[in-house]
Amino acid sequence: MKTQNPIFSHPTLQILERCHTLATLKQVHAHMHTIGLALHTYPLSRLLIQSSKLSLTYALHIFRNIPNPTIFLFNTLISSLTNYHSEHAHIAFSLYNQILLRNKTTLRPNSFTFPSLFKACASDGWLHCGHPLHTHVFKFLEPPSDHFVQASLVNFYAKCGKLSQCRYLFNQISEPDLAMWNTLLAAYTRSASFEDADMYLEVLHGFSEMQESQIRPNEVTLVALIGACSNLGALSQGVWAHAYVLRNNIVVNRFVGTALVDLYSKCGFVNLAYQVFDKLPERDTFCYNAMIGGFAAHGQGHQALELYEKMKPEGLVPDSATIVVTLFACSHVGLVEEGCKIFESMKKAHGIEPKLEHYGCLVDLLGRAGRLKEAENMVRKMPVKPNAIMWRALLGAARLHGNIEIGEVALKHLMQLEPETSGNYVLLSNMYANFNRWDDVKRVRTLMKHQGVNKIPGFSLVEIGGAMHKFLTCDKTHPFSKEIYLKIEEINRRLQEYGHKPRTSQVLFDMEEEDKEDALSYHSERLAIAFALLATSDSSSPIRILKNLRVCEDCHASTKLISTIYQTTIIVRDRTRFHHFQDGTCSCKDYW
Ligand code: ZN
Ligand code: ZN
Repeated sequence: MKTQNPIFSHPTLQILERCHTLATLKQVHAHMHTIGLALHTYPLSRLLIQSSKLSLTYALHIFRNIPNPTIFLFNTLISSLTNYHSEHAHIAFSLYNQILLRNKTTLRPNSFTFPSLFKACASDGWLHCGHPLHTHVFKFLEPPSDHFVQASLVNFYAKCGKLSQCRYLFNQISEPDLAMWNTLLAAYTRSASFEDADMYLEVLHGFSEMQESQIRPNEVTLVALIGACSNLGALSQGVWAHAYVLRNNIVVNRFVGTALVDLYSKCGFVNLAYQVFDKLPERDTFCYNAMIGGFAAHGQGHQALELYEKMKPEGLVPDSATIVVTLFACSHVGLVEEGCKIFESMKKAHGIEPKLEHYGCLVDLLGRAGRLKEAENMVRKMPVKPNAIMWRALLGAARLHGNIEIGEVALKHLMQLEPETSGNYVLLSNMYANFNRWDDVKRVRTLMKHQGVNKIPGFSLVEIGGAMHKFLTCDKTHPFSKEIYLKIEEINRRLQEYGHKPRTSQVLFDMEEEDKEDALSYHSERLAIAFALLATSDSSSPIRILKNLRVCEDCHASTKLISTIYQTTIIVRDRTRFHHFQDGTCSCKDYW
C-alpha cells in the first residue's frame, strides 16, 4: 500500500489554511521555520497561496527568500497573483521573465505556467503580450498541449475579440467542456452588434453543435442563446430556448429572466415580456431596465413610468441606464413634464450625475415635443461637450417640425464631429426636399459625394418556419428571388389600387439612410415582407421583421397599407423602435 508523504497532511498546514490575519500567518511561518517545514516545496507553496490572499508584499518577501525556487513555486505565485491581484499583472510577467533568465540551467516553463499568464494577458493593458506568449507555448511545450493551456488560449483570444483564432483553437480541443462552450458563445455575443447580426447567427450554430456533442447547457449558455435570439428577432428559436429552460429545470435566475424579458419585448410581444417579468422570483435593476426599455420601444410610456415608480418600493435604486430607458419612454409618447421631472430628480434623489446620454434623451424629449428653442439652449449650455448623438437628436426634431435654421446649425456641428456618416446628410436633404429647396438638396448630395460618405448597407431579417432569412436592399441572392420580385410587382399594383403614390420627391431625393437611387420598392424590408407573404399561408400570425436602419417614410406608408390589403400584422423592429402595422395604422403614430 502506498502511504502519503506526511508533509502533505502536516497539522501546521491545516492551521495555515485558517489564518485570516497577517499577524497569525507570520506566527505560523515562524513555526514552519523552526520545525524545518519551510524547507520543503509543498508547504512553501501553501504558505505562498495563503499569504498572497492576505498581503501581496509579504508573499513576495517570502518568495525572494527562497534560495532556489522550483518551477512549481513560480507557478504557484504567478497563479495566486492572477487570482487575487489581477491589477498587478506586471509582477506575474516579471516572475515569468525570471523563469526565462534561469531557463538555461534549471527552470523551464511548463503547462501550469501558461494558463495563469494568459489570464493576466486578458486583463486591461496586457493584451499585446498574449501573442508572443503563444509562441512560447510552441517553444516550451510538446504538442499537443494540455487541455488547460488550450482553454486559456481560447479564453484569451475570445477576450481580444479575435474570433477566427478563438474558433481555430477551440476546434483543436478534443472534448470541449461546458465552460469552453460558454466561452466561445460569449465571445460571439460580445463581438456581435445590431449592425452585424452574423455573430448572433454563430451563437445559434454553436449552440446546436454543442447539443450534438451531448454537452448539457447551463444558465450561462441559455443567457447567450436567448440573447442572440432576441437580437435576431428569432422568436421561435427563442421560445424553444424558453421551453428548454422549463423542461430541464434550469433556474430562471435574474440573468435568464432578464434575457427572456428582452427576448419577448424585442420580438414584439411586450405583454409576454411582462408576464415573464411579473413571475420572476427575484428582480434586480437589470430586470427593470429590460422591462422599462421594452415598454419604451413599444411606445407604452405610461406603463414604463409606472414600473419606474415601482422600483423604490421593491428596494431597488434606479441606475444611469434606468434613467435613459425611462426618458426614452417619455420622449416616444410625448410625456414632456414627466421626463423633465425624472431628469431633475436624477442628481437630487439618486445622486446620479447626468451624462451625455441623459442630456441626449432630454434634447430628444424637448425637440420631439416641438420645444426646439429649449432643446437648442440645452445643447449649448450643458456642462459636458455635446456629441454627435445630441446634435442628431436636435436635427431630427428640427426636421420633424420643419425648423430649417436649427437644422442647419445642428448639421454644421454634426459634419465636424462625424463627416462620414450618411444619416446626417440624409436628414438635412429630406428637410430641404420637404420645403422644395431642390438646390440645397443638390448641394448636400454633392457635399456628401465629396466627403466620400459611406452608407451602411441596409438589411432586414425575417423568420420563416424557424429559419432566418436575410435580405439586403435590391438583393437577388435568395433562392426564391424571382418569385419575390414578382410578388413585389403584385404588391405595388395593389398599393396603387389603394391610392398609394410613391413619394416622388423622396424617390429622387430622399435618401433616408438608404440610397434612393435603388428604387424604393426594393428596400430590404420590402423584399422580406414579399417573401413572408409568399411563404406563409397563415395570416393570423404576424410577420416579424428586424431591420438595421430606420424605416424610411415611403416604406412606412406602404407597410401600413400592406397590413390592410393582405389582412396581416407586420411588426418591424428598426434601429430604435418597434412599428406594429395593423389595419392600415402603425403603433408609432407616424412619430419615429
Ligand atoms: Zn424604405
Ligand atoms: Zn411606425
